[in-house]
Amino acid sequence: MSTEVIPGKTPSSLPSSNGENVSIRVEPADLATIKQDGPATPPANTGGNTLHLSPKTEKFISPRRKRSITLPSDVRILVVDDDALTLRIAQRLLTKLGYDKIVTVDSGKKALEVLKNSPEKFHLVLSDIHMPEMDGFQLIHEIKKMADDIAIFMMSGTENLDIVYKCLKSGADHYILKPIKEDQLKNLWQTLYRKRQEIRTLSQLDSEKDKTSKLEEKTQKLEREVIKLKQEIDEAVETPLRIISSQVENLLSKADLPAEVTLSAILKQLRKVDIYQPAFKKLLSDTTDIEPMTRSWLTHELGTPDTQTETTPDFSIDWSNNNNLEGKSASQELYLRSWEFDVWAYKEEQLFPFILDMFNDFGLLERFNVPKDKFQTFLVEVRNNYSKKNPYHNFRHAFDVTHTIYLLLTTTSAAGYLSYLEIFALLVAALVHDLGHPGLNNNFQIATCSALALRYNDRSVLENHHCSMGFTILKKPECDIFVGLTDEQRREARNISIVCILATDLAHHMEITGQWNSTIPKFTKDDKSHRLLLLQVLLKAADISNPGKPFGIAKYWANMVQEEFFGQGDVEKEKGLPVSPFMDREKPALPKMQINFIDYLVAPLFGAMRDLLPKLQTLVCDRLEENRKMWKSILESDSPESPSPL
Ligand SMILES: [Zn+2]
Repeated sequence: MSTEVIPGKTPSSLPSSNGENVSIRVEPADLATIKQDGPATPPANTGGNTLHLSPKTEKFISPRRKRSITLPSDVRILVVDDDALTLRIAQRLLTKLGYDKIVTVDSGKKALEVLKNSPEKFHLVLSDIHMPEMDGFQLIHEIKKMADDIAIFMMSGTENLDIVYKCLKSGADHYILKPIKEDQLKNLWQTLYRKRQEIRTLSQLDSEKDKTSKLEEKTQKLEREVIKLKQEIDEAVETPLRIISSQVENLLSKADLPAEVTLSAILKQLRKVDIYQPAFKKLLSDTTDIEPMTRSWLTHELGTPDTQTETTPDFSIDWSNNNNLEGKSASQELYLRSWEFDVWAYKEEQLFPFILDMFNDFGLLERFNVPKDKFQTFLVEVRNNYSKKNPYHNFRHAFDVTHTIYLLLTTTSAAGYLSYLEIFALLVAALVHDLGHPGLNNNFQIATCSALALRYNDRSVLENHHCSMGFTILKKPECDIFVGLTDEQRREARNISIVCILATDLAHHMEITGQWNSTIPKFTKDDKSHRLLLLQVLLKAADISNPGKPFGIAKYWANMVQEEFFGQGDVEKEKGLPVSPFMDREKPALPKMQINFIDYLVAPLFGAMRDLLPKLQTLVCDRLEENRKMWKSILESDSPESPSPL
């Protein structure tokens, strides 16, 4: 409803009370500021006044507000009263004020008919309250049902405030006391303007409400999307353990699902080696709209061995029937590949050529472009970083472990499951796996809060130390035997070496053998994680393989271990610490220690490996049994439990 006069329209000339024309230019914004007693209507008695907008106001009128105009002469007014005199007075006064579209009727019913049937909209209804048939209140009610934007003025001869209040409460916009006087109609403009404002505000409120509800709807939709996304992420980072628990839930809830089916699915998950590893692979494969940078970040930050890139495996062959040891006599070759090889028969430096032979047997130095001088320097550096004071954890042990891996690779089918790069990394890991060993074990490091324990936070303290030292040596340019590798191969070799060396911490023995046992039924060399597990187990097995060697050699190693243990026991006594089991030289128990070692660690591990590498039965397992009997007989014969080295 537009009742204002908008600038831009030729001012309408209205007759003033004294007959002069009054020029009106009114802007709604200005109207709002005009006081109730201000000259909002054409001044009736002060002829000649012109209401102008200030140029400033005009300047700020937005084009949007220059809407269709309604001059006083355009305002359509319906006057309703059963009293003919009132109708005449109203008509006369309104006309005098410039309103010329006036319709008068003498009943509420007629008023409604006019309102319904009029092709043009009425802006104002001026109605009597007390009328027969339909009184003013009923009329208001009916008009409100018809249209909400018609201003309604009620007229009555009473000043009774209850009536006035009832009028306003019924929806009337104004109350006029009869008989109508010109002054009472002066403020028609303001009333109409207020009405217009009120309607505009209401419609704005409605639209705001609408917007708010739309916003709420949008927010709810977004919230639902977030919840869905969270679920998707949860599913994506699901670990096999979570999959298992949901399968168990399924099993419990669905009686119709055969238990064997679910149980076998559960077992399949349980056999996974990455049982705790969130399945980011799923996240990356399921979500196609991950931008490349995010995908790359996820892979790098949350990458698992599975998601890390891998060089194309160049698989080795079954080395039990092949060799590269050209120039070596058959007996030399046979000896190097023999489980009878006596590591104690040589001085340390005499062992170097054997190492070269082992690497050459697989053609590793040639295949990976290892400069011979760097290889030599690397070996010297490695040897120098093993303590000569340690009876057991010295360079000879490192050689022995490397050689035992070589035996495992060349006398069983193990090498056939691995790539050349993996074999290379494994042999290097074996050479460095105990570097810098102080002769005092992890428990001692942790108990004494040693510098190493502090550095590695009590976690695989020595293994971390050995590994770190190994790669510190490899970083020296003159020792860099990985120089011929591509960056990717170098990363892979480093990862393999680290994983394998850390696996030699016996604190993880049960965990790794458990993984192995669950992997073997489905072992495949095509699965990188399976091969990595095999590499770990090979180094672990070689590390504790002494009791599986010919008894003479095994017994010598046993004595060396015991001697190193006694050394730690001595230090523990000095420091007032409780002496560790088998480390008190006052209470030697070598046969018992060896039997325990075989029963709880060595035999179970080789037994588990035998499932994949059957030749281990005759090569190691049988010997373990024999040696165990030897130790048992020594124990039973009550011979001195601290045998002298052979
Ligand atoms: Zn070791």
